[in-house]
Amino acid sequence: MANMTTQGIVLRRADYREHDRMLTLLTPFSGRVETVARGCRKPGSPLMSSAELFAYGEYVLYQGKGRSGVVSFSLIDSFYPLREDYDRLRFASYMLQILEAQAIPGDRADRLFQLLIRSLKRLCYMPLEPRAVTAAFLLMDAALSGYRPRLSHCVRCGRRMEENEIRLFDIEEGGPLCADCASYLTPALPVLPREIRWMKDILQNGVERAECPPEDAPLPLLKKYLESRLEVSPPSGRDIN
Ligand SMILES: [Zn+2]
Repeated sequence: MANMTTQGIVLRRADYREHDRMLTLLTPFSGRVETVARGCRKPGSPLMSSAELFAYGEYVLYQGKGRSGVVSFSLIDSFYPLREDYDRLRFASYMLQILEAQAIPGDRADRLFQLLIRSLKRLCYMPLEPRAVTAAFLLMDAALSGYRPRLSHCVRCGRRMEENEIRLFDIEEGGPLCADCASYLTPALPVLPREIRWMKDILQNGVERAECPPEDAPLPLLKKYLESRLEVSPPSGRDIN
């Protein structure tokens, strides 16, 4: 079979045999791809940089019967500064794990791919609050995955709600819940009016142009919401709060 040339980013890597590494890549048009970088752990291997976590570049992959291998690689960004800041590294690792759990082999994932690359650049190179960047990543991932929250109406009865009366966020339906519809049977989490305002701001303006203060980002809520919608629970999620 022919080689495939694709952009990709390493979501997971595991040492294999003496000199090889198994890689899980996210690619824009083939979703999650499992491949092997043969010899990448030999000193001076041209594939060395292809097999690190967060390695983002152009991969040429051999696609054989049930087998795949990296033929060549050209690095675009290693996101190196993440290694120098534990806080940013743990948020970035969580993003990788969400996409590893979510991406489907063979499925187009170009918008999620772009969201990941942009979010890692923000964590690496921009003076933005890492918690807010991560919360915005989760919110935009939800929106791209068909779970964009509704933020102005009760999700059960449809009644329009003023921001100041919103107290609960319905995890199942993805939006605020009015006092009449709230019951102990509803899977809802507390939410503050300023957190609703932050989510509206991000959906409208993006995290780089948001006007709401970054400390209003409801990171635990968005983490629970997206993980429950996607039915995933990445191991590093325990460190995200
Ligand atoms: Zn209601």
